Amino acid sequence: MNMDKLILCSPRLLAESLSGKRLLEEEISLPEKCFHVLLSTKQLIPIPAIENQKGSVKCIRCGNTSKYYFSEYPCGICQQKHLYCRNCIQMGRISECKPLYIWNGAEVHWPKHSNPLTWEGKLTPAQSNAAAQLEKAVIEKLPACLCWAVCGAGKSEMLFPAITAALKQGKRIALASPRVDVIRELFPRLEQAFQDVTIEALYGGSEHKAGKSQLILATTHQLMRYYQAFDVLIIDEVDAFPFYLDKSLMYAAKQAAKKQSTTLYLTATPRKNFRLQMKLGKLPHVFVPLRYHGHLLPVPKLKLAFHLTSQLANKKLPNAFQKWLMNRQNPQRQLLIFGPKISMIKELKEVITLLLLQTGAISASEELQAVYAADKDREAKIKQFRNRELHALITTTILERGVTFPSVDVAVLAAGHEVFNEAALVQIAGRAGRSADDPSGEVIFFHDGKTDAIEKARQMILDMNERGKKL
Ligand SMILES: [Zn+2]
Repeated sequence: MNMDKLILCSPRLLAESLSGKRLLEEEISLPEKCFHVLLSTKQLIPIPAIENQKGSVKCIRCGNTSKYYFSEYPCGICQQKHLYCRNCIQMGRISECKPLYIWNGAEVHWPKHSNPLTWEGKLTPAQSNAAAQLEKAVIEKLPACLCWAVCGAGKSEMLFPAITAALKQGKRIALASPRVDVIRELFPRLEQAFQDVTIEALYGGSEHKAGKSQLILATTHQLMRYYQAFDVLIIDEVDAFPFYLDKSLMYAAKQAAKKQSTTLYLTATPRKNFRLQMKLGKLPHVFVPLRYHGHLLPVPKLKLAFHLTSQLANKKLPNAFQKWLMNRQNPQRQLLIFGPKISMIKELKEVITLLLLQTGAISASEELQAVYAADKDREAKIKQFRNRELHALITTTILERGVTFPSVDVAVLAAGHEVFNEAALVQIAGRAGRSADDPSGEVIFFHDGKTDAIEKARQMILDMNERGKKL
């Protein structure tokens, strides 16, 4: 029995640790005796983890109802075969014979902070307008509100008034995102902005595990452990993979919010369903068409580049790309180059490195790196690039969003590939021109035939700039 477990037995800490959660026994860090007392006094209530009735099956944690994602395993206790859910297995096995536990004990009264915001910055007029709408949604307890803000608008700062309003009322808040990079980047900023508030960041491999703070930052997967916990739920990058494709994440978000709660959605590239709801007047929303520094978004240039695959196989680059690479407007800028596949970015790294070494643009091959999702040095390489230790970084779509570098040119190769959908291309273009010191990085889409996504992405950027000019 460790000290953590003993401390947990204080009634207030118990309530803070367990209320608003729906957990497996192994996720409840309590001495056995304490656990059984809570059960016998009905402060903890077991509920079935898998509903299996009349031929229909449902995992209560992730909402999965697809039989394909259920399998059977022989139970070590009762020697029978039990169903388990494969869909959310990475969060620990949910099975028929083990219940989930929900808290039924004393309610937690989160502190009402009179003046929680310790951030001293100032919002731009466009940010202030959006911030006021989001704050109003919280104060008036609207079910939802969406903030459509261009990449680089300074979304997190716009949230501060809404979070402040919630904290003043003693509410509990979660800020979730499908992208772990977003959570990692936001955590220190929120810690700074709300210094007297308890905050934790939850994601696979994070140092925080307890999840018992008033303000929780989490990947959307982590919301699966919560149940009717949050008065205000903020979902940043709501259109990002895998959230928009994975029904269980939307289910988890719905389950984690209280029945009477406000959900704030943030996005630079809302998908069809949200755009339709906005158009029909079913979703309150606010636009922020201008970046925080007041400059317009860089508009992507389109250039034809043929035979990329065969050129790379011959250790060559398409002419148009090579020409651009050698004649950039501002060679001081770092380079962010996107490719559709890991195999291709590895080849690109090799060929571009050779070229840049030959022309003296870099002096050592280490100044150029390739990065992808499963790369074990992913974080280190991104950090090196951020510290300007790298001249160029070649990447898959993992860096399409959630990362900010002050001064980069952006190129997309094979921009017509299916991984580069409209949202991805808008986000990628949004990596350029982020800083007030260099607001106009180049963005070039190299393609061998314009796709719908390329046209729509470019149009979305032009439309936002039109709106921005009016401000
Ligand atoms: Zn499940």
